[in-house]
Amino acid sequence: MSNITEKYVEEYIRELLPPQGGLLAELENFAVENHVPIIHKEVAALLKVITKSSNSKKILEIGTAIGYSSILLATAAGKDGHVTTIERNDKMIENALINIEKAKLINSIKVIQGDAQEVLGFLQGKYDLIFLDGAKGHYKEMLKNCIDLLKDGGVLISDNILFKGMVANDDLVHRRQRTIVNRMRDYLQYICNHSVLDTTIIPIGDGVAISYKRQEELK
Ligand code: SAH
Ligand code: MG
Repeated sequence: MSNITEKYVEEYIRELLPPQGGLLAELENFAVENHVPIIHKEVAALLKVITKSSNSKKILEIGTAIGYSSILLATAAGKDGHVTTIERNDKMIENALINIEKAKLINSIKVIQGDAQEVLGFLQGKYDLIFLDGAKGHYKEMLKNCIDLLKDGGVLISDNILFKGMVANDDLVHRRQRTIVNRMRDYLQYICNHSVLDTTIIPIGDGVAISYKRQEELK
């Protein structure tokens, strides 16, 4: 239960969406067994639709974990797609590389080891799509770099923005999570009112924000 949408709605949607086959299904099971917080099924479907409909080819991800969403994004981006993904945890990277190799996507996914806040500072070029899914308490600090790295007309997707519902309801906030919740609220205020972004908040999974970077002439 995510505390974000009614359980029956969530279950209905999850049953409706066809199961992933092959390696992705294997990784979903691994994630459940090992408590790896990969994107929820309905978020995976959303990422796939956005990647394809925006024809995104050059993708940046913050938070690789075991490579589940990297593989999903690279596959959705198609033959000439490329994902750069940042992860700081050695064990996760080890797993991700094995999985990326199994998926035969070593040429399409580049894993960069390091703290995302540092790595973002030295990346160059423009990305069509950025998926922010790591370092929840630091989204706002990473936003400036993300916006600079996003092309005009590009899409920024931020995951876990409702954080088990806590972000939307004080009664749900555990004391230890208070800081992270306040930071996330601040981040959401910021991206919802940002001068170059059009943002929407979607209450699926653990909460997803989708922000569109306006074209230069329309800013
Ligand atoms: N995107 C993945 C799940 C990522 S879970 C998927 O859906 O398949 C979040 C990951 O972010 C964790 O593996 C964690 O180690 C990583 N992370 C957290 N803070 C980070 C930071 N500051 N820099 C880089 N990675 C970070
Ligand atoms: Mg997530």
